[in-house]
Amino acid sequence: MKLILILLHVGFLFFAGCDQGKVLGPASKLELATAAEESCGYVQNEFGERVSWKSNLPVNMYIDSSVPDDMAESIKSAANKWSKAAGKNLFNFQMAAKANSITPSIDKVNSIYWSKVWDANKSSQQAITTLSFNGPLITEADIKINAKDFEFYIDTPQNSLQVNFESLLIHELGHVLGFKHLNLKPTVMWPTLAPAFLRLEIYYTDQKTLKCEY
Ligand SMILES: [Zn+2]
Repeated sequence: MKLILILLHVGFLFFAGCDQGKVLGPASKLELATAAEESCGYVQNEFGERVSWKSNLPVNMYIDSSVPDDMAESIKSAANKWSKAAGKNLFNFQMAAKANSITPSIDKVNSIYWSKVWDANKSSQQAITTLSFNGPLITEADIKINAKDFEFYIDTPQNSLQVNFESLLIHELGHVLGFKHLNLKPTVMWPTLAPAFLRLEIYYTDQKTLKCEY
């Protein structure tokens, strides 16, 4: 059975909490009893198994043409930190030449989109990462950046509301790897990110999560 989970990243200024996505229950008590694993910081499927890319690495992602070039460099920098922590290359990026489709679709292509269009009721979301998985194996991940309601910066914020882009991406790429939100600091998977806050290191907590699957 194919399942899709949407992980929302909510802005610090607007809500203290964050929607952690759909709660997936077990298909049956028997299956849960035989297949359940410790979460170890990962999203789990309906049988309680951790979802990840297993040995299907590196994750090949397209950076959509909608993403500004300088921001694309921040994506690669965030990915390099994950790879360095894992001791192997976890991500490969390719710049997509195709026209921006704005709404990421389930098409077996992993993409990062820069969206100037966003649901008015969800203006507190800084980004959305969508994970598709088949059993315990992630089959697709898409990141959509809310460039309508948020301004992002690379090195120096130009105003008090701008969000550090690499700090956001290090978190969203964690979701791409299968990580869920963690409420135990310090972690890059903390659900909220305040303007101008820097979250550029993979913490010990995140390294431990990484080692559970990669
Ligand atoms: Zn998140």
